[in-house]
Amino acid sequence: MSSEYLVLVPGDNTSQEASRIIKGGLKMKAVEMDTERCKGCGLCAAYCPKGLITASAGLNHHGYHPVQTPDINLCNGCGRCALVCPDLAIVATRR
Ligand code: SF4
Ligand code: SF4
Repeated sequence: MSSEYLVLVPGDNTSQEASRIIKGGLKMKAVEMDTERCKGCGLCAAYCPKGLITASAGLNHHGYHPVQTPDINLCNGCGRCALVCPDLAIVATRR
């Protein structure tokens, strides 16, 4: 069974974002969601302090509506979504 990862990188303007990171003005953040592991329970959405996580309209191979990757520009990189997921479907990083 294959897994599909949706990976976000910071910012729409990559060069401007990279410049701010190099200057230390912004933390790198990334949230990766394994849509094939997700069972659509909504725990991550309930615990996201910014309300960024929503279910997708489509179904995964198990017949669940997996969550969509949040807008990384609004995400604070807290990692709560990854901590509460019972299926280890989320990896959040901040460095
Ligand atoms: S890392 Fe925090 S702010 Fe970002 S999507 Fe997850 S719970 Fe929400
Ligand atoms: S907590 Fe995990 S299994 Fe539940 S909706 Fe979020 S990513 Fe999917």
